[in-house]
Amino acid sequence: MNVLPRMLFLFQTLQILDKMDCFKKWQKDISKFVWQGKKPRIKFKNLTDAKDRGGFALPDLRLYYESAAFCWLKQWLLLENTDILDLEGFDNRFGWHAYIWYDKVKQHKGFKNHIVRKALYNVWMRYKDLLESKTPRWLSPMEAKEVKKLNMESKWPKYCEILEQDGEKVKLQSYEKLKSKVRDWLHYLQINETFKQDRKIGFQMERSKLETELLEPNTKNLSRMYNLLLKWNTQDETVKSAMIKWAQDIGHNIMFADWEQLWTTGIKFTACNALRENIMKMMYRWYMTPVKLAKIYHLPNNKCWKCNETEGTFYHLWWTCPRIKAFWEMIYNEIKKVLKWTFPKKPEAFLLGIVGQLVRRKDRTFFMYATTAARILLAKYWKTQQLPTLEEWQTKVIDYMGLAELTGRIRDQGKETVEEDWKKFKVYLRTCCKIQEC
Ligand SMILES: [Zn+2]
Repeated sequence: MNVLPRMLFLFQTLQILDKMDCFKKWQKDISKFVWQGKKPRIKFKNLTDAKDRGGFALPDLRLYYESAAFCWLKQWLLLENTDILDLEGFDNRFGWHAYIWYDKVKQHKGFKNHIVRKALYNVWMRYKDLLESKTPRWLSPMEAKEVKKLNMESKWPKYCEILEQDGEKVKLQSYEKLKSKVRDWLHYLQINETFKQDRKIGFQMERSKLETELLEPNTKNLSRMYNLLLKWNTQDETVKSAMIKWAQDIGHNIMFADWEQLWTTGIKFTACNALRENIMKMMYRWYMTPVKLAKIYHLPNNKCWKCNETEGTFYHLWWTCPRIKAFWEMIYNEIKKVLKWTFPKKPEAFLLGIVGQLVRRKDRTFFMYATTAARILLAKYWKTQQLPTLEEWQTKVIDYMGLAELTGRIRDQGKETVEEDWKKFKVYLRTCCKIQEC
């Protein structure tokens, strides 16, 4: 269903949301739908985070609304489209920049009596300090201090045009240089006073993110702004709690770059969402363990389902349990038989698909399919004593060969690439496998 474009149409057409409560309600409804009424198992922030940061890219409606507001605000900052500005500011008492930078809203409360202006102004104030911590380059002191006229003038000089660097210091250009931009020497002195005030918080000398993502480009403003706001909104979640737990289990840190590689390239080994989902579930430690279930339902027994001896923690059930260990040993040996060379058996490669330099590039696709097959089979026998057999694994990988072929076709990779990825496996099937490919 195309919910997002419909919402975006509304957001971009009218900026009139005053209170943000409705977003909470909508997020709740979306969450209810995503989790089908059950208790959420992944933080909403992680769901909305971008895929290349390990998120699920679920749209955050509030951030989309705010990004759309910035597309409107763009005119207020640039001061170029005077027709629109005259309409939107027909009863303004000061210049636009006086309201958005010099706090004139306090003196002229009527500015916020306008339904659209109020909504936009609120969004601006929420992000102002985050976006521009120093006096911005696009700010025009002339426009801010000017008496408001019925029809707005265009081409206001901005700070980036009237300042100059003098060694370490920033100063206003001389009267001689600015002669064409000011009315007379009195006007120049007025601007100089404003400059002295603004100097107290300093000047932004390089282009800010707001400039490069919103003010300068003429296309894709909405999504650029959304990505910018999203990055801020999710930055405290860059190291997700699941990642810390993985490091504790494995006993050494997984470099952030390795996680990033998994999100940006690793997970793309297949176009099949069911297989990708398995990797995401592993990363977020989705599966319910005996320990967790015992806690929730106050059960007396929290022992591992496979060996019935040790506490059934997540890592025990996926790696350290003796019976699971034997299963992985078998898979590891089979993969070595296929690839015809050896490599160390590392949990992060088999459980998360974080291969690093462990597996050669040209064997990686097969390795990802082979280990995903093993994990999906283990998940199938979750909560039981049973373990998947070698034949089951082989059949699964043969199935995935078909998926790989489809993936190649979707991506226009050509038959040779897919053929190359599976050549070794086909040889293995012919030589040491009882089941034959049909
Ligand atoms: Zn066990």
